[in-house]
Amino acid sequence: MTATVIDGAAMARQLLAELGARVEALRARGCQPGLAVVLVGDNPASAVYVRSKQRACDAAGLRGDNISLPAEVSQADVLALIDHLNADPTVHGILVQLPLPDHIDAAAVLQHIAFAKDVDGFNWRNLGALVDGHPALAPCTPSGSMLLLERSGVPIAGKRAVVLGRSSIVGKPAALMLLERHATVTICHSRTPDLAALAKEADILICAVGRPRMVTADMVKPGAAVIDVGINRLPDGKLCGDVDYDAVAAIAGWITPVPGGVGPMTVAVVVSNAVAAAEKSLLTA
Ligand code: NDP
Repeated sequence: MTATVIDGAAMARQLLAELGARVEALRARGCQPGLAVVLVGDNPASAVYVRSKQRACDAAGLRGDNISLPAEVSQADVLALIDHLNADPTVHGILVQLPLPDHIDAAAVLQHIAFAKDVDGFNWRNLGALVDGHPALAPCTPSGSMLLLERSGVPIAGKRAVVLGRSSIVGKPAALMLLERHATVTICHSRTPDLAALAKEADILICAVGRPRMVTADMVKPGAAVIDVGINRLPDGKLCGDVDYDAVAAIAGWITPVPGGVGPMTVAVVVSNAVAAAEKSLLTA
């Protein structure tokens, strides 16, 4: 079998076009949705991500405010900026680009963002709502991964799903989302014995480990849907995922490429969450 390649870039463009119609509807009601993205320091990779979010905002018709702070900014000043953005009614979504410099407590900053504007879905109230099956703003990378599965027609209910990685931003929320859609879910991590055998049982395999090409073809069930979340930079500067793409594509049913798979969809979901936050703000105004 040769896998169907899930074109995340095309699906992200489609989602942004759909969001454009919702933005128009909001504008017609006098609400111009706005997303504020805060960048601290001059990490080149972070700057690339911030630019991609700006392009996505432009594509969907959102106002994107990029706020750059110097690397030596104090935590108190970052929190004061978040206070200001929390109180600004023209800002519907707030995202603080990670990583933050070491002297800033990232958790304190993220938890300071008002839950109604938390487009990353990292606020404990939003994560709690996800656990309880009532997500409002859910983490973007697992949400994007679910959209890729759903829009590719991958069956989820009743299927075996295995998630490699248990971070709070990818692995755990991905497992909850799959469970919510009635998959039977196993989460694997660095202390899981015989991870390869568990992975091979998966009809849906989510790879979010951060190890280049760790998932080899012998770990994948023929016909499985393989979602590669990993973004790893090789010594030659090229990007690759957690999956040995060519070999796995030869046996899987569906596969996402890196780049061009989960990454663009993640960015589109940031915008989707900002639009949802703006829509909700009208309901509560
Ligand atoms: P973390 O480092 O927070 O988590 C990695 C997880 O993988 C941990 O649970 C860890 O286990 C597990 N792990 C590490 N090594 C092994 C191993 N050898 N065997 C089994 N499990 C292992 O990473 P993130 O979740 O933040 O990100 C994962 C990957 O996804 C990274 O490559 C990151 O760049 C990428 N990413 C991509 C995004 C996108 O938009 N496409 C967005 C976010 C992340 P343990 O908990 O035991 O340590």
